[in-house]
Amino acid sequence: MTDTDVVLEVRDLAKSYPVRRGVVFKREVGTVRAVDGVSLTLRRGKTLGLVGESGSGKSTLAKLLVGVEKPTRGQILVDGVDVSELGRADRRRLRSTLQMVFQDPYTSLNPRMSVGEIVGEAYAIHPDVTPPGGRDKAVRELLDRVGLNPDHVNRYPHQFSGGQRQRIGIARALAVRPRILICDEPVSALDVSIQGQVVNLLEELQDDLGLSYLFIAHDLSVVRHIADEVAVMYLGRIVEAGGDAEVYDRTSHPYTRALMSAVPVPDPTRREDRAIVLEGDMPSPSDPPSGCHFHTRCWLAPTVADPSSGETRPDGARIPSVCRHDSPKLAPQESPDHLAACHFALDAPRR
Ligand code: ADP
Repeated sequence: MTDTDVVLEVRDLAKSYPVRRGVVFKREVGTVRAVDGVSLTLRRGKTLGLVGESGSGKSTLAKLLVGVEKPTRGQILVDGVDVSELGRADRRRLRSTLQMVFQDPYTSLNPRMSVGEIVGEAYAIHPDVTPPGGRDKAVRELLDRVGLNPDHVNRYPHQFSGGQRQRIGIARALAVRPRILICDEPVSALDVSIQGQVVNLLEELQDDLGLSYLFIAHDLSVVRHIADEVAVMYLGRIVEAGGDAEVYDRTSHPYTRALMSAVPVPDPTRREDRAIVLEGDMPSPSDPPSGCHFHTRCWLAPTVADPSSGETRPDGARIPSVCRHDSPKLAPQESPDHLAACHFALDAPRR
């Protein structure tokens, strides 16, 4: 692949929020590093799956990409152009190439607007992209495109099912003819039977329109179906990234291996890591652990610790000092495009 295949690139992107306390006078008492130095690449016509537990920074990353939040640090490049270097008009035009599909089709659609108004609203914001045939015709075509009856254009969101509402959300995102969709947990609020239909629709649209997707989910099994490449996020950082075959079949990072062990597979003998239970919740991003952020929950570190030199965790497990003190960089695993940020993943035996 050449660099022209890259439609979206994120370099060392970070977003911190101040933590304030106090009833009347709010004092700043710390910082939440919601996104902490993320680099990613999205290719034309491909899907990058972004996976991680709730609170790992996925939605904040999505908001940075669509311009709802401003980064504290780092760059966002669309077609190789740094968004921050553009004037307002150019930035707005560029933004229309990037649209978002939201998680909850119940709350993301204005209940007082008809479907036609919801889908057609984008043409008021970006009049330059209104198709020659006019707004009404375009809206009807979009509804048809996403599998809804165009004659239902005057209905309101409550008259549709959850899956149909998500189709409305997709039609709204498509109105301005974007090239990139940021899908933030687009099927998480839907019944399992409906999830597949929406994923299939997204795949069809990708094939027909050449769209690129950043597909965010907390569930590895949903991402597996649609993603060409996968990135796993923990406490604001990417801990593993690579092609879907590498991340799923040659999983490296102990965090990803724990997530994988929770994924049901039809053939249990193929499941490498059975039931790795991660102890406790994810630590707060306002007070992340030192060194490797994952060391407080890591199940691999205690297995490689030298009993004479390791340090004892509150749960009694001994872990190598390097995990406590040095933040591991993303490094190539068995193949150069498969990266993991772990001091021991490459040498660790598969269970
Ligand atoms: P995810 O989408 O993976 O669940 P989020 O991006 O929503 O994660 O949140 C990452 C962290 O950033 C969380 O600890 C969350 O509480 C914090 N956070 C997100 N938005 C804000 C905000 N506006 N102000 C303060 N903290 C925030």
